[in-house]
Amino acid sequence: MKNILLIQTGGTIAMDTSAGQKPTLNPQKWTELMYQSIPELSKIADIKMERLFFEDSSDINKKHWAKLAAFIHHRYEDYDGFVVLHGTDTMAYTASALSFALQGLDKPIILTGSQVPMSNIRSDARRNLINAIEIATMPLPEVAICFNDFVYRGNRATKMSIGDFDAFASPNYPPLAEIGINIDIRKHVHTPSNSLDVSTNFSDQAFLLKIYPNLNPDFLNQINFRDTRSLIIEAFGSGNFPIHGRESLLPFFEQCLRNDILLIITSQAAYDAVELNNYESGRKALELGALSAKDMTTEATLTKIMYLLAKHEDNAAVAEQFNKNLVGEMTE
Ligand code: ASP
Repeated sequence: MKNILLIQTGGTIAMDTSAGQKPTLNPQKWTELMYQSIPELSKIADIKMERLFFEDSSDINKKHWAKLAAFIHHRYEDYDGFVVLHGTDTMAYTASALSFALQGLDKPIILTGSQVPMSNIRSDARRNLINAIEIATMPLPEVAICFNDFVYRGNRATKMSIGDFDAFASPNYPPLAEIGINIDIRKHVHTPSNSLDVSTNFSDQAFLLKIYPNLNPDFLNQINFRDTRSLIIEAFGSGNFPIHGRESLLPFFEQCLRNDILLIITSQAAYDAVELNNYESGRKALELGALSAKDMTTEATLTKIMYLLAKHEDNAAVAEQFNKNLVGEMTE
């Protein structure tokens, strides 16, 4: 039987609804709740449970990512696979961050959670957890999200729904596995590597800005970007933004680049890739020296730049690495 480490970090899956109360995180009761709800878990694998932290995932940040990556790293040789229980809200950010922090895997690191607390009769927790543990025993050497009978590459996934059991999607990359009567692991999963490369630092010197019609550039001029090394612009469509009249963002972008801030353009559209050559605004951004996030999710774009800024002092080195596909996060 395979050895699996189940790591609790919080989220709805860990919430307690017993005694008719509103769902609350209950660190004391979670192991009990788990075995009560799914006593047969031990038939799938030898499972050890550890509670690392207990947060609603909105409170998870780079310190938690570093702690989680280091926790797995220190136990890496002792287990055949890892399952991380996590809130759904920022699961795609954590999965992306882990994929950069722990590269060259030869075993699965599977994140899962649920839309409904485990103690509810109609919870999706049971199915997601059983699936995730089973996947963690299989040859899928990636950081992945297992949810609602699909397994997605972690740095390609994004939360799509607040109220549907089908909470995640992977808009620009096909699922790594589908779970039905049989579990079908697809050919495009990473091949195992035996050179684990660990880097648990992330910089918070990145700023993510969503463009919208009527965004007043004066507001942006009032923000202090002194400690910002990279600005990610979530632009329209293939990478477009206003370039005419009072709302033109070009003067602001020029100012950022003069201050050595790396400008990255991603898109508000989930499907397909940013293509800066398509329209005038994108071409102007390219002339200024902006980088394209291509078909990366916003979650992967942000965590990749945070990982690279922590690794390199020099912006040219960050830009060079950013343009590369490091762990399957972008299509080159
Ligand atoms: N707010 C919760 C969290 O992300 C939502 C969930 O787990 O589904 O922690």
